[in-house]
Amino acid sequence: MKQRTLIVGNWKMHLNVQQSSLLVSRLHEHIAMHRDIEVVLAPSLLSLQPISLEIDRRKFRLSAQDAFDADEGPQTGEVSFAMLEGLVHYSIIGHSARRIYFGETLQQVRDKMQACVRNKITPILCIGETKQERLAGETRRVLHDQLTTALTHLTAAEVADLVIAYEPVWAISTFQGEKSRPSDMQQAFVYIRDQVEALYGAKAAQAVRVLYGGSVDAHDAALYLELEDCDGVLVGAASLNYKQFSEIVNQAHVLNIKRKND
Ligand code: PEP
Repeated sequence: MKQRTLIVGNWKMHLNVQQSSLLVSRLHEHIAMHRDIEVVLAPSLLSLQPISLEIDRRKFRLSAQDAFDADEGPQTGEVSFAMLEGLVHYSIIGHSARRIYFGETLQQVRDKMQACVRNKITPILCIGETKQERLAGETRRVLHDQLTTALTHLTAAEVADLVIAYEPVWAISTFQGEKSRPSDMQQAFVYIRDQVEALYGAKAAQAVRVLYGGSVDAHDAALYLELEDCDGVLVGAASLNYKQFSEIVNQAHVLNIKRKND
């Protein structure tokens, strides 16, 4: 483990401002400050501003779930990464819900990555294959295409700083929600790092943080976190439950202590 373990909660399109605020106060009560863990909350866009005033920034960081790639313009209804600068530390980009529900293309994801970095926000790039693609033996090709296109305009230093979440679409609760076998995921993490190394060198490949996402909960989080190349987890449904989410953070910390003592 090179850096702090990253635990990201994606609240998707759930919780209004009051409900988000309540969840934040519960998380504050139940999550202790751990120097080895970075906890990131991704509430709806509307809740980001009020929550930013409520959180202890030593304990939690904020992430957007998406934003528009132009910094400003006539795109009515959109919010740009430029507008989020200073408010969030991270932004999720290319989430499968965006790719599937909104038809987000590889090129749009690439442009969002560039806009995100341009505005000093660290991308959490989501990549992953669908069930059909997996069955057709296309997992590597899909990961390769999603990754290489998304990183096109970034420098090695920018790539070193980013977060890549491997989220097989079939494992996400919103879609098929099939539980993956944790040990099977290690191959994908290695493949992702190998691709980064081929494009940006060993330093970037070592530094880039690779997360797992797909129906992770307090029962199985540790099984993913203990994989050699897993730097953290991106949690959807279970992050809406403060007990589950706090427990995941706690397990990550216990695992790090165990690793240190081994
Ligand atoms: C997600 O939204 O990125 C996700 C992984 O969701 P879930 O944990 O609910 O499958």
